[in-house]
Amino acid sequence: MNLELLEQTLADHGEPSFRAGQVWEWTARGAAGYDEMTNLPRALRDALAEEVPFSTLTVEDEAHAADGTVKALFRTGDGHPVEAVLMRYRDGRRSICVSSQSGCPLTCTFCATGAMRFGRNLRASEILDQVLHFRRIEPLNHLVFMGMGEPFLNYEDVLAAARRLPEIGITHRRTTISTVGWLPGLTRFVDEVEEPIRLALSIHAANPRLRSQIMPVNDRYPLSSVLEECRRYVELRHRKVFVEYVMLAGVNDSVERARELTELLDPKVFKVNLIPYNPTGMYDGSSREAIAAFKAVLDRARLPSTVRLTRGRDIAAACGQLAAMR
Ligand code: SAH
Repeated sequence: MNLELLEQTLADHGEPSFRAGQVWEWTARGAAGYDEMTNLPRALRDALAEEVPFSTLTVEDEAHAADGTVKALFRTGDGHPVEAVLMRYRDGRRSICVSSQSGCPLTCTFCATGAMRFGRNLRASEILDQVLHFRRIEPLNHLVFMGMGEPFLNYEDVLAAARRLPEIGITHRRTTISTVGWLPGLTRFVDEVEEPIRLALSIHAANPRLRSQIMPVNDRYPLSSVLEECRRYVELRHRKVFVEYVMLAGVNDSVERARELTELLDPKVFKVNLIPYNPTGMYDGSSREAIAAFKAVLDRARLPSTVRLTRGRDIAAACGQLAAMR
């Protein structure tokens, strides 16, 4: 819901200022439409239904994976595709992965989003409407900015959306922004954001030459500066930074690469998440054995690490597979 349009429309109707809060409260709690908002006068509900679209996004498709994962494909009002994914876990965790942009201007070689056309930054309301779509299905408690796009290329709107999430039931401590290390946004995030929102860094290689090969953005912002900002984040927030490392067979998965990673990352600052590669065409995923051998090197160096559970692969909803193709 476009909250500025909502406020303007309510003002045009001469409504008191608390009305916007009432509408948002219903919406954030999963109401399906204005009709349910029984503390609003009937005529006002009808007027809003006419004048303020309940969502800025229209749902074009929804896919359900065998493991309970749901992927939604939306369109913005001006026709840009956007995808978001709901992941359900046995322990009750309900985690939503949202997009910050339609497409992505960065061209990481292993990620399908980079191969589609870049559309534009999403507005805060378009980010929140991805969340609200799933909130209408069930209560949510975790969120990651790990869908399409680079969140720190859309700093203002990503933060504006993130700041409203607690009203939908997702606390800042359960909100994670993932970045390739886009330095201007990262620096602002560390300097300005006081909320305990978590940070994840997509690293994928410790070796600068290799990292530049698979993530061209590495030429723009050297890893040393990025890691320095992560260190500052941990000093200020007292929360570790997650490091994402997608395991590509024969590319970045040797024990030598693992050793380089342990030399680069301070265990007091980082926690590594090894991600099995989800097929996007370019590469082969590392074998289980290769992932285990890689992890063993990290274990010996006492660099904390986990292997990410793959979800939603059968509906192309897994990490790196969001490309709005049907
Ligand atoms: N641009 C931000 C936000 C997207 S996060 C970032 O890159 O951090 C998406 C995560 O999925 C990133 O860690 C990304 O590197 C990872 N990923 C991309 N392609 C993948 C693939 N094919 N298999 C597994 N993970 C992938």
